[in-house]
Formats: sequence, structure tokens, C-alpha cells
Amino acid sequence: MSKPQDVQLSTPNLADYMELPAPYNTIESQPALKEPKGSWTESNITFLDGYAGIENLVRPKTKEEEREFVEKFLSGMEKSFSDDTNRGMIMPLLLSFEYCAKCHTCSEGCHVYPASGYNELYRPIYRSEVFRRIAKKYLDKDGKLIKKWDENDPDLNWETLARLAELAYRCNLCRRCAQQCPLGLDNALLAKEIRKIFSQEMGIAPKPLHEKGTMNQLKTGSSTGMSKPAFLDVIEFIEEDIEEKTGRKIKMPIDKKGADILLIHNAGEFMAWPQNPAAFAILFEEAGLDWTLSSDILGYDSVNYGLWYDDYQAKQIGTGQFKVAKELGVNRIIIGECGHAHRASMVSMDRGATGSYYVPRESFLPLLWDLVRTGKLKFDPSKNNFPVTLHDPCNYVRSMGIVKPQREILKVIAPQFREMTPHGVDNYCCGGGGGFAIMNNLNFAEFRNTLSTRMKFKQILDAFADTIENTEIPKYICAPCSNCKGAIRDILEYYGATAKYNLQYDGLVELMVNGLASLDRPYLEFLLDEED
Ligand code: SF4
Ligand code: SF4
Repeated sequence: MSKPQDVQLSTPNLADYMELPAPYNTIESQPALKEPKGSWTESNITFLDGYAGIENLVRPKTKEEEREFVEKFLSGMEKSFSDDTNRGMIMPLLLSFEYCAKCHTCSEGCHVYPASGYNELYRPIYRSEVFRRIAKKYLDKDGKLIKKWDENDPDLNWETLARLAELAYRCNLCRRCAQQCPLGLDNALLAKEIRKIFSQEMGIAPKPLHEKGTMNQLKTGSSTGMSKPAFLDVIEFIEEDIEEKTGRKIKMPIDKKGADILLIHNAGEFMAWPQNPAAFAILFEEAGLDWTLSSDILGYDSVNYGLWYDDYQAKQIGTGQFKVAKELGVNRIIIGECGHAHRASMVSMDRGATGSYYVPRESFLPLLWDLVRTGKLKFDPSKNNFPVTLHDPCNYVRSMGIVKPQREILKVIAPQFREMTPHGVDNYCCGGGGGFAIMNNLNFAEFRNTLSTRMKFKQILDAFADTIENTEIPKYICAPCSNCKGAIRDILEYYGATAKYNLQYDGLVELMVNGLASLDRPYLEFLLDEED
């Protein structure tokens, strides 16, 4: 890791990667990899594995700047191991840091490592070991710094840290490895801790997550930068769209004081997939729920990217969202189709939203299953009579144990539903987790589309093996999470799989609306296209 900058530790090569099933089982059937641009190689670090995801990770110009860079990292590391500055995370961090038996059971649990053809760099404990080695050398057993940086240290220099920073963004933070570890150690937590040191201590983080994401959200209220008038315009557009598609006039409730439910969506849905908030509105109105959206920008966007790299930012955004719910006087917040928002709002913020900030938060999934189970929503499954598979967002299943509702709903509404292998708590990440879905900066998208999503693409192709080459039959990937949906959209585009093999994707609520007995036209765009 400390090798000079002109040494690239690994070079991407499709021939080394895990084989994909037919019809993508040859290298010729996959898009060729691109060389990184010269400018990226010079100013950004591609000398880990040929990819770069962090724009502001630039080489110090002088030895003094390098010293300052390394010592800031060491100081951040000391804060990670202090109860005063890392309360809440220190116990699980110490457990995962101290007790690794190097048994490598976790390696097979990770989708990136086997997908890469067992490249050592992507082993779950590789980055943990680099971090551990530095910490063991510079901190005492109580986590206190014991010395200043030794310039001649063979294990620590700018190159080591630059590679480590990038390596922290080769992990999807999906925690599948933690589930496999016989000791329950969590390498994702260590990866996140490394990201946190670089962000909180050194201001180094990928632009899509920090500058365009969290900072934008703190400044404007929304990660998309959408203002309140623009939001209200989008709502109007969605209402018109609902009427056009279904013949129903639905007024989406906004800022309704004292409603039972405040529904919060990932703001990306309003921009990229407005059919999703529309589908929620159709289902909630049909079931007669007492609900509202908020036009307060912090209250309409459930995004909280801080979860992936910066606890401080995460808490600020989470608290703002709860404040909105308090002011509206709702009984509960329901989080829509966004996995990381579920975890940020319902798990992480459990530590931050106590006392006057407390508002009950629930997932949309048990709520919808309840509406299906009790017959408040009625379906004609023949409307969804095409192959459907389910992608399990890691945050629902592994982090929160929400496994049954989504598949119980699918069993009712989709007669050709088939599971991926493996699924449920053993699912594989879509490859967009941990922020990757929105990292289209530098040449990072190629890493995501070829490597971190590879296992998911394999699972999708396997699930539809019986009909994949029959282009007459649409094959639907149900991805009930905004980020996962983005990652899956990008894989399908990257491999041309929608155009070539009629692979389609969208969320759960769109499929539910398509199957509603009370509607007389299809709701899914690709079925409408077929009708035309
Ligand atoms: S958290 Fe997920 S991506 Fe990261 S090392 Fe573990 S299994 Fe691999
Ligand atoms: S499975 Fe657990 S103990 Fe074994 S190498 Fe992985 S993290 Fe360490």
C-alpha cells in the first residue's frame, strides 16, 4: 500500500472477473473496459486499482503538506478510538478491530471479492488490516497517540493513506461479511470508520455524497437541490399523470396538520421515478389512509448520505426531518422505498432522536402487507402475469430484519414470482450500496457497473434463465429501494439488457398498482408501450 505512486496495485481485467451467465458469458458480450483518462491518473488516485472515486484526494505538493496530511489522519484515528469523540460506535469498533482471527470466513460472504476473481485487494479484511497495522503502531492500548509520524515508516505515507481512502470506497457497507463472521465482526464498520476519518478530519469525501449530496441538503433542504415551488410543481405534474394513466383525480395531501402518517420519499424518486410517489398516493388513497407529504424541504426528502461516511452530517439531517414531523403533529413517519433512509431514520437515529425529538418511524413494507392481508387493497394477479424477481435491499433485510412483507405481497400479486439465489437476509448487495449508486464521478461508474454489481447481475440473469432470450416476455426486477433501483437501472443500461432481452425494473408499489383489481389500464410503462 505504501508503494510509489507510479505502481498501480491491480489492473482491471474482465478475463479475471467472475464469469457471468448466458447471454453475457463471453468477454465479447460485455462492454470493453476503458483506460482511465490521463488527467485522472495525474491528479486523482487511480494507483490502487485503476479507478478513482474521490475528487479532492490530491497529492500533497511538499513534504510538509504530506506530514500535515498524515498527522491529520492519525489525529482522526485517535478520535475514532476515544469514548469522548466516538461514543456509540466505540464498542462495536473495538470488537471488530481487536478480535479478528484471520479465518477468512468472511471472504466468501462478500460479493466484490469473488466477483473480482479473488483479488486480494477486495478481501473484506484487507482494508481492515491496513487500518489495524497503522493503529497498532501509532496508538497505545487505550487508543492514545504515542508518537508523531515517522517519515521513514515503510507502512505509512501519503500513498498508503490515499490508497486506503479509495479502498474504503470499494466496500458497499452491505455487512454480508459481518453476517458470515463466526465472531460477529463487522468489516463494513471499519470501512465506514476510515471514510469518517477522511471526511470529518480531513474534508476528503466523494463529491456526489458530500458536496452535491449532504452539503446541498443542509443548504437547500434537499439532496436534489429542489426548491419548495419546484417540489409543488412536481406534485401537480404527478397528479396530472395519475389522472392521465388511471382516470383518477387524486389530490396528494401536503402539510396536513395532525395526519396519522407523514410519508417521506427519497427525493430522487420525484426527479427520476415520479411513478413511485404516484403509486404510493394511489395505494394510500384506495386504502383510505390518513396521510400527508411535507412541503418543508427537509420533510420531503428522506435521503441521509451521512450514514455512509459522516455521523455528524447524518445527525443534522435526521434531526431536521424529525422536527418537521413534530411541527406537523403526525403520529408517525412512514419511510418510502429507500433502504438507506430506513436505516438512517429508524436505526441510526434511534440514538439521536430521543426526548423532544422522538417521533415513531415505520417502514412502508409492513404497512402495505397489512393493507394486502386485510383485503383493503384488492388485486387481479393476472395483470402481473410475467416473470418477476425480487432484489432485497441490504438495509431492509440484513440491518432491520424486514424480510417477509415484501415477498408475501409478491406472492399475492405476481403469479410468476421467483426468488433470487440466495435471498432474504443472505441476499447480495445490488452493488450500489454505501453510496456507489450515485457515484458517477471520475471513472467510478465503471467499477460499479462491472465489479460491485457483478454478483447482482449474475443473480438476475440466473433468476430469469428460463426466459432470458425470449424478448417477447418482459422480465421484471422488483427493486423497492431508490438507490438499489438506480444501481440496477445502470447495470441494465450498461449491458443493454432492456433493449436486448426485455429486462425491466421498478419498485414494489408500481407493481402493486399495476395489479390493482380496480384499475382498467396497465400502470407499468413497458406494458403501456406494448399496448400502443
Ligand atoms: S460490507 Fe459487503 S462489500 Fe464490504 S467487505 Fe463486507 S461483504 Fe464486502
Ligand atoms: S470471518 Fe471474522 S474473524 Fe474471520 S477473518 Fe473475517 S472478520 Fe476476521
